[in-house]
Amino acid sequence: MLVFAKIKSVQQKINSLNKGTKIGFVPTMGALHRGHLSLIEKAKIENNIVVVSIFVNPTQFDKEEDLINYPKTIDKDLSLLKSVGCNIVFVPTAKEIYADNIKSQQFDFDGLEHQMEGKFRKGHFDGVGTIVKRLFEIVTPDNSYFGEKDFQQLQIIKKMVQKNQIPVNIIGCDIFREEDGLAMSSRNSRLTYEQRKAAPFIYKTLKQAKIEFGIKNALEVTEWVKNEFEKHPLLELEYFEIANEETLQPIENKKTSQKYRAFIAVFAGKIRLIDNISL
Ligand code: AMP
Repeated sequence: MLVFAKIKSVQQKINSLNKGTKIGFVPTMGALHRGHLSLIEKAKIENNIVVVSIFVNPTQFDKEEDLINYPKTIDKDLSLLKSVGCNIVFVPTAKEIYADNIKSQQFDFDGLEHQMEGKFRKGHFDGVGTIVKRLFEIVTPDNSYFGEKDFQQLQIIKKMVQKNQIPVNIIGCDIFREEDGLAMSSRNSRLTYEQRKAAPFIYKTLKQAKIEFGIKNALEVTEWVKNEFEKHPLLELEYFEIANEETLQPIENKKTSQKYRAFIAVFAGKIRLIDNISL
């Protein structure tokens, strides 16, 4: 496994590959867990070589505190990547990516960016778009893998690729969960013992909401979810929304021809957790 910190060196390596070598790419922010590894394993099967980037991208954090406290476990990450047969790891510094101008490009994602995460994390998706576009330019992948854990991000990346005509296939991957249902996340390691014990309530509520959605309208389901969290001593609901899977617009009238998904963001103390479920 080769590890590069410089753009030039990783590009040189990629340019030296035989023509026709299929490159699978998995961008991450590190603190890797089995959710990340599931993306890499899929990329291994579908490509000749797999490139993983580890970069805690400053421009996608709306809260400085969250950026500073983001878990960093680079030694463990590298040994995990080696164990799953990753070929190339790209670990740039912020200076390497942004030079002295740590700023986002502004994007128009046809409104996808104004929903849910976009409402609560100002500038987040401009930051995501900026880094992913830059990484695609550097790595020039054939296929790139993104988790449905960040479903809105997945849709936004698809939109960016389509609007900018970037020649890469974007592949969405299932949410990988702990045995108790909690969606794996690098942030889970920051939960206290009590918060960690409480956190599976999020997915349990989503699963129940899915059942309720079969017999109730979206407003009633939303009220039910809000009420469940109001009663909870450790978890605070930021938003619960049922939206059209493609447009991410909040549901108006339930139509059988449309696909819906429920999205949720919850605070356990200062730790913000997100999840979603197909309805
Ligand atoms: P992150 O390091 O949080 O930026 O995540 C890197 C990639 O891994 C993103 O495409 C995430 O959606 C994906 N990912 C994170 N957690 C999970 C999970 N539990 N299941 C599937 N994919 C995940």
